[in-house]
Amino acid sequence: MSTPPLSSTERTRVRRLPERERTDRRELYDILDAGLICHLGVIVNGSPRVIPTGYGRDGDTLYLHGSTGATSLRADEVCVTVTHLDGIVLARSTFHHSMNYRSAMIFGRPRAVTDPEEKLAGLRTLAEQLAPGRWDLARRPNRKELAATTLLALPLEEASVKTRQGHPVDEEEDHALDVWAGILPIRQVTDAPVPDPLLRLGIPYVECDISHRR
Ligand SMILES: Cc1cc2nc3c(=O)[nH]c(=O)nc-3n(C[C@H](O)[C@H](O)[C@H](O)COP(=O)(O)OP(=O)(O)OC[C@H]3O[C@@H](n4cnc5c(N)ncnc54)[C@H](O)[C@@H]3O)c2cc1C
Repeated sequence: MSTPPLSSTERTRVRRLPERERTDRRELYDILDAGLICHLGVIVNGSPRVIPTGYGRDGDTLYLHGSTGATSLRADEVCVTVTHLDGIVLARSTFHHSMNYRSAMIFGRPRAVTDPEEKLAGLRTLAEQLAPGRWDLARRPNRKELAATTLLALPLEEASVKTRQGHPVDEEEDHALDVWAGILPIRQVTDAPVPDPLLRLGIPYVECDISHRR
């Protein structure tokens, strides 16, 4: 299915190495869907703050959640980034060492979700982003838990995507150096699940499918 391209605004236009900008909205979705955490940038009392936190994407909405007491979730305007580190680029000179990455930046004014149905759906999106399949397995939030939770909806309207892939870009004369050059790939993996010591006997682990995370 075709999706509209990312709209370029004054603040989302990539100026530094613009050839690394991606304008395909599908790439934004892929980066967001592959991630577990974002960095939420806000101004609190005139001071910048960047909070690592979970998120979930549903269509063109990014959901963020936290305690009703969280000051960072009360900001009028936010900047959210999601970054995947795909490799360390080892060049022949230290200057040209680099990283291969996929990253997204979203600007906007989040909306506090108060509608009970949308709130539950948004929390489901967050839970499923973290651990696909768990919404149907685990107990869902009760009234007290819902009341203690702030849910924000951020539209994916003003966003940019920047990526770097490939080998080092060394100076021509440095190709003659006896220095190994190339890429050290990095990927996310999970290890074997470790049962909670309080787990009742006979409850099997149901696999969370995270194969889309690369
Ligand atoms: C893992 C990682 C490591 C990096 N390491 C370095 C480093 O060591 N040094 C360095 O200079 N840069 C690094 N970058 C690139 C960095 O993120 C910026 O793109 C770069 O520093 C240019 O900054 P600027 O302020 O000139 O951006 P500008 O090009 O002026 O930014 C304008 C707009 O472009 C968009 N934009 C810029 N960067 C990104 C991005 N990464 N993802 C999505 N949208 C973006 C935003 O909408 C931003 O408002 C790294 C990126 C990643 C993901």
